[in-house]
Amino acid sequence: MSSSDDVGVEPAGAFAGVPDGLDRLWTPHRMVYIGGQDKPVDDAAGDGCPFCRIPTLDDEAGLVVHRGAVAYVVMNLYPYNSGHLLVCPYRHVADYTELTEPEVAEVAALTRTAMRVVRDVMTPQGFNLGMNQGEVAGAGIQAHLHQHVVPRWGGDANFLPVVARTRALPALLGDTRATLAAAWPAPTKG
Ligand SMILES: [Zn+2]
Repeated sequence: MSSSDDVGVEPAGAFAGVPDGLDRLWTPHRMVYIGGQDKPVDDAAGDGCPFCRIPTLDDEAGLVVHRGAVAYVVMNLYPYNSGHLLVCPYRHVADYTELTEPEVAEVAALTRTAMRVVRDVMTPQGFNLGMNQGEVAGAGIQAHLHQHVVPRWGGDANFLPVVARTRALPALLGDTRATLAAAWPAPTKG
């Protein structure tokens, strides 16, 4: 903990996530301060959209937990809680009604598997699931649909230093990604 190497500023643009204006401070041995904002400048697909860009990175760099056929699971760079996952179609689609049937089915299946894996690994007492549709509804990146899977523990909402605009999380995102990815079940046939 003595060297300045223990503290690094990482650009937020390299990760997936939904910016919400809070800065996060991860507290274990290696403290990583995530600075900046990750919000796309427009609604276009491609490199300007984090949810389009992430699948082009390797799993560790992109914090990808699992890749399905038409959708994938990624750690949220701006977590409300440890183990906050996002389930996204690969396709740059904004509205739930625009998803194809296979995309609907896989987003649902990955959401269920994400709950099982997080339950096994992190033993939460509950979950919040959902998608914010449109900026007015709270979507940070409205152009590319993403389903939130947020594990909840009793009392976690009390741990919310809003004034400081900083949250301390008990595990590094990368460590959590590796743990969840290792616990993800092998694909079934079909
Ligand atoms: Zn996109």
